[in-house]
Amino acid sequence: YQALSEDDERGLLEMDYRSRASTAENLAHASSVELVAWPEDIPEPGANREQLTTDQHKSTFDLVCMATAFVLLHEFRHVMLDADEKRPEARLEEEAGCDVWARAFMMDKIDKYASQSGSSFVAIQQKRAMALALGAAILYDLTPEYDRFGSTDYPSMADRIHAMVTGPGPAQSSNFWLFASCLLIGIFRRTGQSLPFVVSDNETLVITLVEQLR
Ligand SMILES: [Zn+2]
Repeated sequence: YQALSEDDERGLLEMDYRSRASTAENLAHASSVELVAWPEDIPEPGANREQLTTDQHKSTFDLVCMATAFVLLHEFRHVMLDADEKRPEARLEEEAGCDVWARAFMMDKIDKYASQSGSSFVAIQQKRAMALALGAAILYDLTPEYDRFGSTDYPSMADRIHAMVTGPGPAQSSNFWLFASCLLIGIFRRTGQSLPFVVSDNETLVITLVEQLR
């Protein structure tokens, strides 16, 4: 706590963070996106990736596209099951199955893509895992509070986040765990929950935070 209070730049960061978070919340709940002023220093959605000038903006663009891909793949799986007349009896089982399928679609054949594209397996895996974590955080924010604990038809958000964020993935030293813990701490802050624990590494932090969401 002392280290935090000695950080002179923290006030400004806090202000930025809160203003971004409240803009995102207003956008999510507005009847039309035109009614909410878009922050000047953030590129508009749909911008051409090649026109983005910083690596930070380009990676954000990629992560948003990949998180959207996860959501579309989940819906695509519903359509596949329906067309093949293979929908499970229980809706809950179908929802969980679509998440697992979409995750596998993005994570299972990275080695093929790595050898075709010449990029490193570890870097691609880290980026895709980050996109899944971002997708999970977005789904959490878009899910009304009363639906977050799940129902007979839908898995709880904790189960969905667990399926999307944990499991075989990047090594403990990967920046993925730092990224995912920041997203989760953001959820805890926005919902006014305290973080009463100390952990030794970011992977343990992520796993602990996901469990605390239950
Ligand atoms: Zn679904």
